[in-house]
Amino acid sequence: MVSYLGRPRNGARDRLLLPPCRSAVSLRRGDQYNNALARKRHFTSGGTFNETKEIGAVSEIQVGIIGGSGLYRMPDLAEAEQVSIETPFGHPSDSLTIGMLSGLRVAFLPRHGRYHQFSPSHVPARANFWALKSLGVKQVISINAVGSMREDIVPLDLVVPDQIFDRTLNRVRTFFDEGPVVHVALADPFCPAMRPALVAAARSAGARVHEGGTYICIEGPQFSTKAESRVYRSWGVDVIGMTAMPEARLAREAELCYAVLALATDYDVWHETEESVNVSTVIENLRRNTETAQAVIRDVIPMLAQAADCECGSALAQAIVTAREGIDPPTRERLGLLIGRYLE
Ligand SMILES: [Zn+2]
Repeated sequence: MVSYLGRPRNGARDRLLLPPCRSAVSLRRGDQYNNALARKRHFTSGGTFNETKEIGAVSEIQVGIIGGSGLYRMPDLAEAEQVSIETPFGHPSDSLTIGMLSGLRVAFLPRHGRYHQFSPSHVPARANFWALKSLGVKQVISINAVGSMREDIVPLDLVVPDQIFDRTLNRVRTFFDEGPVVHVALADPFCPAMRPALVAAARSAGARVHEGGTYICIEGPQFSTKAESRVYRSWGVDVIGMTAMPEARLAREAELCYAVLALATDYDVWHETEESVNVSTVIENLRRNTETAQAVIRDVIPMLAQAADCECGSALAQAIVTAREGIDPPTRERLGLLIGRYLE
């Protein structure tokens, strides 16, 4: 039994977290214990960064997967365990499932929660990315349902976008809203090493995949009006969704590689002859696409281990503007997981 969160002082872990105790009731008890321990890890003085790094080193979780609509669990994960993590930004959308996939240990998190209880505007994105980072994750695959804004992106096609246009209105988009001042580069918001791997994996899974394209992220929760959709198309976007922001921003601030695998489900509302988007169409096409998405994820995991070098992992190296002596101890403590190595 691997412990992701360390051993308790009183041996309670053995009662709460061993495999036979993974019923819903025991899991809740385990979650409570883990929460307490995770809180201790993140807020005790001195060891925040080292301790969280140690979790990753022990478990060797290289890849995180954020499942979107229709992908709430990964039945392919072997030896799966649930881990609940509390962060300085609250609870993630759900407990994380950690297990083996294609020979590597990965972490899976359903973006909207296992019951789809978080709307796009209320997904706790900062907690989600903090939790993945605290597990030692380096690369994050983000699964997103999208509408097509182009005739030749047909529903059920896959898209691996290379750009994003942020039209969200009501979401916290940074870990550093309370300081220090940090300006990361976002010219290329998706990891250039992960994107080709996702495209290759999609092709090997037999999917029709479009390489590149601009994802416009709207606030929602309503779908667009026809006027909005026409304007977005005139801007040259390729797909429309509600969830890749602020994820791309937060991934960069957390120095995580991040790439989107977008599943086209409809033609939004602009198409003259195709039905306008509605929830039943989206769900039906997601149901048909979920198996493809899981096949792509299975295939891409080994490729990611071999991915080319990129600069995502040092995004903060030149980005922290506040003078080191101007960053107070509570902030250093709170954000140590992200900025600790630049303050030593
Ligand atoms: Zn990268």
